[in-house]
Amino acid sequence: MSVDMGALVLHGLGDIRYERIAVPAPGPGQAQIRVAAASICGSDVPRIYQYGAYHYPLIPGHEVSGRVVALGPGTRGGPDIAVGTEVAVKPLIPCGHCAYCHIGAYGQCSDYDYLGSRSDGGMAEYLVAPVDNLLPLPTGLDPVEASLCEPTAVALHAVRQGGVEPGDCVAIIGCGAIGMLIAQWVRIMGADRILLVDVDEAKLEMARRMWLGQTVNSHNTDPVIAAQQMGGGLGADLVIEAAGAATTIEQALQMARPLGRVVVMGNPAADVTLSRATVSQLLRKELTVRGAWNSSFVALPTDEWHVALRYLADRRIDVRPLITHRVPLAQGAQALAMMQRRAEPVARVVLVND
Ligand SMILES: [Zn+2]
Ligand SMILES: [Zn+2]
Repeated sequence: MSVDMGALVLHGLGDIRYERIAVPAPGPGQAQIRVAAASICGSDVPRIYQYGAYHYPLIPGHEVSGRVVALGPGTRGGPDIAVGTEVAVKPLIPCGHCAYCHIGAYGQCSDYDYLGSRSDGGMAEYLVAPVDNLLPLPTGLDPVEASLCEPTAVALHAVRQGGVEPGDCVAIIGCGAIGMLIAQWVRIMGADRILLVDVDEAKLEMARRMWLGQTVNSHNTDPVIAAQQMGGGLGADLVIEAAGAATTIEQALQMARPLGRVVVMGNPAADVTLSRATVSQLLRKELTVRGAWNSSFVALPTDEWHVALRYLADRRIDVRPLITHRVPLAQGAQALAMMQRRAEPVARVVLVND
């Protein structure tokens, strides 16, 4: 095995470079993974160019697939993980000791580590991760598609927070990759009317090509009226806010029917102010509002990562149309800069290693 590798290294705000660095060695309980693909999350771009990382240097990338090439000293892989296994990598490393870890609510862990934001992630040729964070890929699942397991699980988590019923009218605000994955999940769960809202016509066009539902450009059409029309004059049974813009949380509350549900999962890009009329609607309609964060990966009631992998494997969830760009890792910095400038319509850019 080579002693150095290519990696995208973040040295400071906006300063990301492709360089050769030492291959990380696995410690006890860890595996060394040859990365096959790392998908660039919508959150990676503001982390690199706007907010910065927790420390530098840092290798970003938390949507990763690859193959186990070595195990740390004294580390046993377990029944389904061994050298040679193709895996998806869960980026959240819970502390294992806090009150929320004890109930399996790892997303609420008070002292977690995270590959790609707190520790080195997958925008590199090799990655070290705890064996417990690895899931074997189902036979036949393309590792490039498997790199989208994380957003697929995150989308499933948001949908489960909202509780879809057959026959529901579901409105989704934000038509990026996450919004389009949410649309696929809610259709699987029985929603029969789906409304997708965005201001970006290219994203809406992508959703139309995938037959995900009715689309509305909220630049020129009022999404509240569209939701009322689709929802029998009342509004949507469930609204999932996946845009994180200043106006969209307010729109989500307005689009839900009386006694409806709203899931808020878009990271707000700025402070959000709610009008008095909207807060009054929230009270009078007795809305159920839930946040959604990360995904759940305990065995019961549902390991969202296992479900996501199964649905990706037989393409009941189809991420192929979402992969708008496949880019060699060495050109990753240029791809990130393109996303930052919004130079091209993007759902997901996947960095691939040959
Ligand atoms: Zn992500
Ligand atoms: Zn914990």
